This record gives sequence, structure tokens and C-alpha cells, in this order.
Amino acid sequence: MAQEALKIWMEVPADIRSKLLSNVWCPDCRTAVTICDYNAEFSGGVVVLHGFCATCGHKVARVLEGCQKRPEKETKKSSQKAKRALNHFIFNVWLYGDYPPTQTNRIIRKIQIAETKSLYNFAKVITQAFDFYFDHCFGFYNDFNRPQDSKKAYELFYDLDDVEPPAPHVKSVKRTKIQQVFKQPGDKMLFLFDYGDGWQFTVELEEIKQAEKWDLKPVILESIGKAPLQYPPCEDEFEEDET
Ligand SMILES: [Zn+2]
Repeated sequence: MAQEALKIWMEVPADIRSKLLSNVWCPDCRTAVTICDYNAEFSGGVVVLHGFCATCGHKVARVLEGCQKRPEKETKKSSQKAKRALNHFIFNVWLYGDYPPTQTNRIIRKIQIAETKSLYNFAKVITQAFDFYFDHCFGFYNDFNRPQDSKKAYELFYDLDDVEPPAPHVKSVKRTKIQQVFKQPGDKMLFLFDYGDGWQFTVELEEIKQAEKWDLKPVILESIGKAPLQYPPCEDEFEEDET
């Protein structure tokens, strides 16, 4: 099993392999680092490298969505044919949910993300793109004016154990892939983040592009407008800072 994973990994061209090895997220260093002493394993049908951060020694891992397990009992030729191309979805994400945005008040992030990522992953990337902490519950809804009446809804509440389960039609954000919700350019959802502060984002699929097979990391392609502070300092703190 692990040997097969390693074999698939070694079939990746050497220059791409070394690029991937030197671009692994370390949660301790909070940056991309080089992975060392790694081994390859299958997880959910794709190859995952497990190893250690070359800088601090913390455990790190890298998922290689492009390196998929081959279907058994298939010749190499037919498995290559059967392999479906992976796509990047390119989204425009507007803060405030105002649609269409006005020329003067545009806060947009253009985000490229693999179609196979979960809505949970997507939410994380969106919040990072706007410099928000990923520290609150959220959901995706098809009804922009009355999210609670949405016929299509995906909430983190579904995935949490210690909260009341959401309404029966609400689905998981961790087990729903982006491609299951967004089908074609123009498809839109409301992303509601933090039910207290109620940050609203309009998420619209703009373009579908065939992905480079080996690197499916999300990318922020464009940033328009300055994101507001998620936690603006209160006035007292502000005065203290001034003096
Ligand atoms: Zn580290």
C-alpha cells in the first residue's frame, strides 16, 4: 500500500517533486517549509506525504490530489483514459453580499481552488483572503435575502457534535465538495460567516479551468479593495495606541 503510494509519487517529474517538497505548510512556522524524512501513504485514494518540518521539526503533511490511486485490474492505458481531468474553479467573492457591486465600494477577491475541495476548505480560503480569522461558524445559502429559508444550505453546525443539529435539509460543509454545489459559471451562493457579526459574501463561480495535475493549492488571483477589519479596535484602545 505505502509502496504503491511511493511509486505513484516517484512518477511525478523530479522538478515538480522538489517544488512540492519545498512548499509544505507548517502550522508551527506558519509558512511554507521543506518537508523532510517523509513517507507516502494513501488517504482517501490520494497520496499524502507525512514528514517533518525542516525548520522546526513539527509534523507536517502534504496532500497530493493529483496523485490518485489507480483503479485495480486495469491496464495502464485504460486507466489513463478513464481518468477525469481535474478542474480549478475560479470564483469572484464579494464582501457585503451586494450584487452587483458598485464601482466605489468593491471588495473582491478572485480565488482559484480545486473543484474537489470541501466547502469547509473553501470557507477557510475565503476568510484568509479577506484577512479574517477562521474562528466562527458559517454556512453557504442559495437565498441571499433570507438565508434561513434557503432550499440549498450547507452549515458547519451539521459537522459539529456539541450543537443542536440544523434543519433536516441542511447539509455538511466538510463532506460536500465545491463541485457538488457549483456546476457552471454564474452559479452563486451566499457565504455567511459569523452569525453574530453576520459577514456576508457573495460567492460566484466565474470560470472553470483544467488544473495542472500536480499542484492544486488554492490561489488568490486578484484582490480589489481593502478588506475591513474583522475586529476593529474599540475607541479606548485606539486612544491608548495614539499616546
Ligand atoms: Zn516548522
